[in-house]
Amino acid sequence: MAIGAAYKGFMDCIRLLLYLDANRGCQDREGCTPLHWAAIKGNLEACTLLLQGSQEGLAVTDNSGLTPAQLASEKNHRKIAFLLGNTRRLHEYRSNRNSCLGKLPKLGLAPVLCCVIVVHLTTYIHSVIMASNLPKLTAGFGILAWLGVFLSSAGLIWFYRCSSKDPGYIKMNVSDHQNLKDEPLLKIEANHPALLAGNWSQLCTTCKIIKPLRAKHCSTCDRCVEQFDHHCPWVSNCVGKKNKWDFFLFIVLEVMAMVITGVVAMTRILTDPMAPAGFSPMFSHASTHHIGALIFLIMDIFYFFGASALVVSQATQISRNITTNEMANIMRYSYLRGADGQLRNPYDHGCWKNCSDFMINGYNEDVPIAEDSANSEETGMIQIPRDSNLQNSNSHAPTDRNGHIAVHVNSSNINAHHGPVHSLVQPR
Ligand SMILES: [Zn+2]
Ligand SMILES: [Zn+2]
Repeated sequence: MAIGAAYKGFMDCIRLLLYLDANRGCQDREGCTPLHWAAIKGNLEACTLLLQGSQEGLAVTDNSGLTPAQLASEKNHRKIAFLLGNTRRLHEYRSNRNSCLGKLPKLGLAPVLCCVIVVHLTTYIHSVIMASNLPKLTAGFGILAWLGVFLSSAGLIWFYRCSSKDPGYIKMNVSDHQNLKDEPLLKIEANHPALLAGNWSQLCTTCKIIKPLRAKHCSTCDRCVEQFDHHCPWVSNCVGKKNKWDFFLFIVLEVMAMVITGVVAMTRILTDPMAPAGFSPMFSHASTHHIGALIFLIMDIFYFFGASALVVSQATQISRNITTNEMANIMRYSYLRGADGQLRNPYDHGCWKNCSDFMINGYNEDVPIAEDSANSEETGMIQIPRDSNLQNSNSHAPTDRNGHIAVHVNSSNINAHHGPVHSLVQPR
């Protein structure tokens, strides 16, 4: 069944089958697995989905001895061949427990970034503030110079918080599924508002949950994250609902520190009484007598451009209540389009409310603005909010600890589930 769904490119079918623990390693008469067929058909989305949570199928060969990556390459699906080849190499690194490179993706670059900031700050204190061949600082200028150190150090505290905090991981539901291995259709939250509304892409095949609309499964953390923004290798963590405020404060503090320390370093170099007049003589004087301060200034300007671009993009997104992931995949998310097909962010409550909610609470709640009732009537769309009473109205349905509804069906009712599945097989 999974092979047929992969062959046809029925994404919702593949998602549902994987959710129900379908065997993704099953082979047909030609020795092809679902991943082989997705690669042959050039379906990138299906390949990505089939690799989520398990990369074992990458090494499986069909009857002619070809792996999915080789088949994709043979069929000239270069993007897919590249994805499968890269994922296989990464998986082999990760599988090798003795390899330091294998642990790198999990460890991330947070220790490197921490060292860079500390070295940068030490250079500033040593070569700019306390430089023996530069005049002593006046009281006012000294306060400004040390303010830069203070802001950068404070930024490190929020860097640690962002890196170590739970970004908004959603509890997995794997154990319940393992208990029901014999009858996998026994537990599917078929009455969940998301499924009733046709949003089958909200099924996470790894965490075995129906994730909230703005959540996404992070392949590095291997968990679903609420209001997923992006996985930041520089902080070795996801940026999501619960640590976005820490991330934003960290980059803002560091940019403020870079501006102050850059201005202080430039002023110190330019006001050196021993410096000759003219740009070239002054530059050569600084490169011989104040090499530490000059290197600091060049690096500071370099870091400033990178970090300030990040601050501007994050601030713009916060003011519009949209995440980096939503911006990058805006065409893939149907909830970011209005009834007329135009792009429309239902969570944008206006710049003032978006910013004030973020400042006060540290995040914005996923409360959509209701679309014009006229528009809804035109298209026959049913607006089902996430926490609507509809879910609560199923008083006969047992709920688990996460508030998810578990609907128990026997085998005679299985056909009832084919309705929504078949109605959703049109390619998006
Ligand atoms: Zn997940
Ligand atoms: Zn992550």
